[in-house]
Amino acid sequence: MPDRMQKYVTLGRRMADKRTPRDRVRDHREILPDFTKDEAAAQASRCEQCGTPFCQVYCPLHNNIPDWLKMTAEGRMEEAYHLAQATNNFPEICGRICPQDRLCEAKWACTLEQAGHGTVTIGAVERHIGDTAWAAGWVKPRVPARLTGRSVGIVGAGPAGMAAAEELRAAGHAIHLYDRHARMGGLMSYGIPEFKMEQQVVARRAGLLTEAGVIFHGGKVLGSNLAFADLHKQHDAVVLAYGAYQPRKLDLPGEDLAGVIPAMDYLVSSSRALIGETVAPEIDAAGKWVVVIGGGDTAMDCMRTAVRQGAEGVTCLYRRDRANMPGSAREVGHAEEEGAEFDWQSQPEALSDVPVEVIASRPEGFGQRDAVRTVRACRTRLGAPDTAGRKQPEPVSGSAFEVAADLVINALGFMVEDANRLTSGAVNMSSQGRVAADRESRVTAAPGVFVAGDARLGPSLAVWAIREGREVAGAVDRYLGTLPEFCDADTLCETRIGVPVCG
Ligand code: FAD
Ligand code: SF4
Ligand code: SF4
Repeated sequence: MPDRMQKYVTLGRRMADKRTPRDRVRDHREILPDFTKDEAAAQASRCEQCGTPFCQVYCPLHNNIPDWLKMTAEGRMEEAYHLAQATNNFPEICGRICPQDRLCEAKWACTLEQAGHGTVTIGAVERHIGDTAWAAGWVKPRVPARLTGRSVGIVGAGPAGMAAAEELRAAGHAIHLYDRHARMGGLMSYGIPEFKMEQQVVARRAGLLTEAGVIFHGGKVLGSNLAFADLHKQHDAVVLAYGAYQPRKLDLPGEDLAGVIPAMDYLVSSSRALIGETVAPEIDAAGKWVVVIGGGDTAMDCMRTAVRQGAEGVTCLYRRDRANMPGSAREVGHAEEEGAEFDWQSQPEALSDVPVEVIASRPEGFGQRDAVRTVRACRTRLGAPDTAGRKQPEPVSGSAFEVAADLVINALGFMVEDANRLTSGAVNMSSQGRVAADRESRVTAAPGVFVAGDARLGPSLAVWAIREGREVAGAVDRYLGTLPEFCDADTLCETRIGVPVCG
């Protein structure tokens, strides 16, 4: 064992210093800076170099974590980058946004945590490796050595679509990436706020795909101005990677009042303004009492965005307690530091256009015609666990209370849009409400049509979407290899995109 490693005995876990809450709520920039070279080397050197590294097992990409930690500790950064990107298309992105406390750095994953030393800061080191590589110019477009003449259409330019595009382009295929938005990134550009990951981090990856020859078609909506039949005819294979965007309904009286909005509408409106696609956010929390309903990371992103927009107050109503919420504990901490409040074990019952102070003196006056002014909720107690082991909340009778609200954000989660509708009946949905496909081949009911990412898994994580993109790329490449040979360059091949290649 090199003496540069196993420093956990004398060196504690340490992250880079976060910006102070006071400073960070003044803008939307990232709250956590990169490690310096020395900090990254020191933190990487804490790794025990386990024979069976559970960190790697719990990373969805099975990154070779111990080896790139060792290389970082030894200052071999270029090697570390090439090793990191061999299994992960976007290491600096995962280093920033993976919920490491539930994956590679979970208490059951890193041996050091189990021994009471605190996990290795795996995500922060991975980010440092990626950022160092970009700064040094080691990140290059994966331009194919030869072209196959085959063409693939990918719908959805999120992490799944982008990873699939990079892999399939490197394999020599013509890649057309279609998206409803004007730029690539999916939720990484339009959902995940800049205080978790700044836009240029995604934009430079998008630029790299363009340099490799991936052709991006923004403003194309499957089922609207992009017909599935045309797509299927134009390309040898199609990948559906359109994510999960349909908001779950609140199912509450008053849900249709003005000022009650889905979380994605709110976050997209903020992102588009910050990117410069609009002059100002179409939905602005400035000066408003904001209530966010839900307990996942999306809820936290909405709360922290509202704080930055200058909301009067931001409260999250969540029906379970802190220990049983689905969101990352790290993100709850960030939201609390920034002044957002959590009302644990509270379940909304109705939304009203009558102000709180009026309802207090006129309990029967719970109007529902105008803009929202009040949320009525009740307390819950946690009952028996469900089949997934999560304790079920039960309303406590006689515990109703009201909260003032002039912006209510529904962050209850998302469902996958009906593929059957988007493809005019060619592709089916599973009984779990996801795009149905063979588990191994990823092929849907339509020949040559594949699915990846949240559209296949349901709402998940960027790192799982990257894995999906890599796996579907392998499946598509194998499928293309089974198609009959052709050599008529005038009518086939890449003439479809105006670039003859065979000559
Ligand atoms: P998406 O990223 O959703 O991309 C799908 C793309 O398809 C989008 O660009 C969309 O515009 C496009 N599209 C949709 N419908 C159509 C259509 N009909 N026609 C054309 N294009 C279409 N994960 C993490 O790991 N860390 C986080 O911190 C994190 N934070 C999140 C915060 C929020 C608010 C949300 C909602 C999710 C978050 N996630 C996070 C989850 C993560 O972003 C997703 O799991 C991941 O982006 C899914 O990747 P995808 O490529 O399958 O889909
Ligand atoms: Fe950890 Fe995510 Fe990196 Fe895997 S990709 S090592 S889970 S930060
Ligand atoms: Fe290093 Fe922790 Fe992984 Fe072991 S589990 S190899 S200590 S990062």
